[in-house]
Amino acid sequence: MAQIKVHDKNFIPYLSAAEIDTQVQRVADEINRDYSNKKPLFIAILNGAFIFAADLFKKIDVEAEICFIKLASYKGIKSTGKVITAIGLDAEIYGRDVIIVEDIVDTGKTLSQFLPQLEHQHPASLKITSLLHKPEAMIHPIKIDYLGFTIPNKFVLGYGLDYDGLGRNIKEIYQLV
Ligand code: 5GP
Repeated sequence: MAQIKVHDKNFIPYLSAAEIDTQVQRVADEINRDYSNKKPLFIAILNGAFIFAADLFKKIDVEAEICFIKLASYKGIKSTGKVITAIGLDAEIYGRDVIIVEDIVDTGKTLSQFLPQLEHQHPASLKITSLLHKPEAMIHPIKIDYLGFTIPNKFVLGYGLDYDGLGRNIKEIYQLV
């Protein structure tokens, strides 16, 4: 794997497809073990998590459902900050064992705003799986229950993650030079 250029920036190889697959399998093993008598509902957050969610879900061998949502952020009329809403969340959350599927937790802002909205709907349990986590960037502490990789605070792309629309179809994860 050599250095690549996406738009105006250069990226170097960081995680190989084989390394990613090993950790996705380990995360799936942990979930399969913990949910052996349950029927979890996975909620994958688009766009970035689509490849992780698909690869992970193929390795889940307990009875499970999956749905995909988008989080849209807009400026509320009255509030000063941004408000996050879920688009496409049509699944019944009440009483379900929910697992949120994220590509990367960076500052933790997105999930810290979205999780209370889900808790409001009284799931039986609410856990988070994320492929990547940048602890150095964390502002809003989020507990990631099933984590693929801890990574340094550098921009990454590939395996579903983009840089300005491009790079999602790259099989490995690259890091900004
Ligand atoms: P947070 O709210 O935790 O700061 O941001 C999470 C979202 O920011 C992720 O779901 C992802 O879409 C985006 N993001 C954060 N860090 C990166 C990165 O290094 N690369 C890419 N492509 N997206 C990132």
